[in-house]
Amino acid sequence: MKLSMWTYEGPPHVGAMRIAASMKGVHYVLHAPQGDTYADLLFTMIERRASRPPVTYTTFQARDLSGSTADIFKAACRDAVARFEPEALLVGASCTAELLQDDPGGLARTLDVNVPVVPLELPSYQKKENWGASETFYRLVRAFAGSATRPAEIPANSCNILGPTSLGFRCRDDVTEIVRLLTEEGLDVRVVAPLGASPADLARLPDAAFNIVLYPELADVTARWLKKTYGMPYVSTVPIGIGATQDFLAEVRALAGLAPREAGQDQASGRDRLTWYARSVDSNYLTNKRVFIFGDATHAIAAARIASEELGFRVCGLGTYMREFAREIREAAQAYGIEALVSDDHLDVEAAIIAARPELVLGTQMERHIAKRLRVPCAVISAPVHVQDFPARYSPQMGFEGANVIFDSWVHPLMMGLEEHLLQMFRDDFEFNDGAAASHLYPHAAEIIEDAPALAAETLVWTSDAEKELKKVPFFVRGKARRNTELFAASKGIRPITVETLYDAKAHFAR
Ligand code: SF4
Repeated sequence: MKLSMWTYEGPPHVGAMRIAASMKGVHYVLHAPQGDTYADLLFTMIERRASRPPVTYTTFQARDLSGSTADIFKAACRDAVARFEPEALLVGASCTAELLQDDPGGLARTLDVNVPVVPLELPSYQKKENWGASETFYRLVRAFAGSATRPAEIPANSCNILGPTSLGFRCRDDVTEIVRLLTEEGLDVRVVAPLGASPADLARLPDAAFNIVLYPELADVTARWLKKTYGMPYVSTVPIGIGATQDFLAEVRALAGLAPREAGQDQASGRDRLTWYARSVDSNYLTNKRVFIFGDATHAIAAARIASEELGFRVCGLGTYMREFAREIREAAQAYGIEALVSDDHLDVEAAIIAARPELVLGTQMERHIAKRLRVPCAVISAPVHVQDFPARYSPQMGFEGANVIFDSWVHPLMMGLEEHLLQMFRDDFEFNDGAAASHLYPHAAEIIEDAPALAAETLVWTSDAEKELKKVPFFVRGKARRNTELFAASKGIRPITVETLYDAKAHFAR
């Protein structure tokens, strides 16, 4: 048992639902207790989908347990096939139904329905949503592309895009952006899957020269299988950020046998605006801002690269809730001289945020809550997300327009440079005081920063002059100044802390 209040991912059958809901012609029969239909709301309310997801639940009740739940399952399958006439039927069990051991896969084989049935084995007590989605996609691709013959002549510039799904963070616009970019580069995008694909489209996957994996947590396994089975190479550089997009396009062009890209063309064409915005003098105040990053592995690693290489931030924390990607995130964190956090416990994340003392948090909906409570600016970079991150407007994260969107959405929560400056100059002003919010923010006090882990009480004696002097330090680094001074005083046995100690400590740590 584990005490949980927030979970970053749903159970694996929600991942399977995401695949079914992404595709055309697939219906999912889910053996599940009454009440599990709550998951429909993820699609109809958060994603604001206009139709119900293609899922039939068996919705068995307590009284059904004395009878045959297996018969309920079989009847639900037959009804679903008769009513929805899908091209393929997915069958599986939710957590409770897994305990019943009705074996949906085995039962489905006895159904005698005239559509291909793909059974899912999703261990609900060990695995989570993204794993469930990845496994479902892999099973479907195996079922429909498994017996395909790869054509003898395949144009080198043909490719498939793998990984975008329903309920994925900004997948809708990422696909639009990347398909447009690839088309402009002279690529022929054949199949995008699972989002928008049918089982027949999956059968055509081996007809392209290579695959592009946009979301490794969803499509890495499938791409590896396609490589092993059909020798299809794949690109797995995720094009989030300018540098990553350029690397991605260079790799894609190399695979497609096209000439290398010209340097500087993206800025000259005006589609990369992030680079200029980040260089403009108004962005000077962003330099070395401490940023804590947490999310799914793909978005967290991409965000760290943008933060450090493209915006000049300092990455002071990096982590993911996906244990499957622990190695990748650890490698990425090493490059920033920090230790990665791999945890799906939001309390661990909160503790890590407090310890890292960031000036900006980039995370999921959970980190938005944590940051709000700690009064640290925050932007959302990864699922899980609320309805506001399925926006009506075009908001990709990938490609050049994605980088433009990222620049705006990360910088917006920060206090403007001028406001920061005014806060320091007029800290006693009724409007621009330490406790006052930036004009567009909630109160932007520095409580987290003042909340430094306390040293032993006897070392915490400050003279009133020293306290006054400390107040002159800008609030966003004041906590650090306090902590360093106290550490310095403790190490030297100084008591009480005077103005002099404050400056001695400053000189000591500046060395
Ligand atoms: S079966 Fe699983 S998803 Fe459904 S209510 Fe129980 S724990 Fe939640």
